Amino acid sequence: MLKSASTLARSLLIRPQAFRLCSSSSNSQSAPVAGSEDEPVVLENNPYTKEPRKCLLCSTGIELDYKNSRLLQQFVSTFSGRVYDRHITGLCDEQQKKLIEAIAKSRRAGFMPIFVKDPKYARDPKLFDPLKPIRPHSFA
Ligand SMILES: [Zn+2]
Repeated sequence: MLKSASTLARSLLIRPQAFRLCSSSSNSQSAPVAGSEDEPVVLENNPYTKEPRKCLLCSTGIELDYKNSRLLQQFVSTFSGRVYDRHITGLCDEQQKKLIEAIAKSRRAGFMPIFVKDPKYARDPKLFDPLKPIRPHSFA
């Protein structure tokens, strides 16, 4: 069983088409057009150039808005309320400045909290679920 599998693999690897391709290329070398084929190919763009590194906001094209508090809240510590630095957010310098301005504007406008909850109250149990009322009401 193993021998048959290996012979099958060999027959697949060494296909007669490959030999035909080799023989056809040797024929083309003898042709007068072969000189142009042997010349080095000049590429328009270097395929090995690395793409310039872009931060999360630049690469996705997300614009920071002071009214989008859910987006801005991700860049703020939940415990201290401080804006994370660039080494944590991974944003470029320009976007980080925009982020700080947007967060400050959002706090002034009242979309984001200025004061944060004390960590000792973070694990307080929920007293009720507003999505599951005890009695039906007309607000939902
Ligand atoms: Zn950027």
